[in-house]
Amino acid sequence: MKIICIGRNYAEHAKEMKSEVPTEPVFFMKPDTALLKDSEPFYYPDFTKDLHHEIEIVIKINKVGKHIEEQFAHKYYDEIGLGIDFTARDLQAQCKAKGLPWEKAKAFDASAPLGKFVSKSQLGNLSDIGFELKINGESRQVGNTKDLLFSFDKVIAYVSKFVTLKVGDLIYTGTPEGVGPVNIGDKLQGYIKGDLFLEFEVK
Ligand code: MG
Repeated sequence: MKIICIGRNYAEHAKEMKSEVPTEPVFFMKPDTALLKDSEPFYYPDFTKDLHHEIEIVIKINKVGKHIEEQFAHKYYDEIGLGIDFTARDLQAQCKAKGLPWEKAKAFDASAPLGKFVSKSQLGNLSDIGFELKINGESRQVGNTKDLLFSFDKVIAYVSKFVTLKVGDLIYTGTPEGVGPVNIGDKLQGYIKGDLFLEFEVK
């Protein structure tokens, strides 16, 4: 399986990063070794001093598809969950300054913590899913899919023009504003519509 991440999919986050609001989806990938599941602890990597959280809604692909039309994209996923796109912001800034790819800042081991999934039918309107990240019980990021620049279906249509989607692939759909550093000892909890979906500690 592969992990596809959408960058700058919320205008307010693009602005806080001083990035342009994109006119088409921006995507990059993480390898399967980036997954961190089952509330396993995350070990703070020694190659960064500025590790940032990015809470993101995750969709799980359930059917092989290429060149998927937007109107049929909803048939390619039926489970939705929550994850974090950990980013070594200091390394990312260096890569950006040199015009280099972001992989070492984004695709390292355990950089994609993942929580539980539920059937999308349980979440109602997919264009109005509220989600939140708390650190040590304090709210840090609050988002809602109504603010997505590119909907789940648009993202699937766009990405599948370039890359075949396969069963089990995950799409991290982008983070809202409020990204910031995590520290050793922090306890992260992610919620969708007030329900706990993701929980782990930074060690
Ligand atoms: Mg992200």
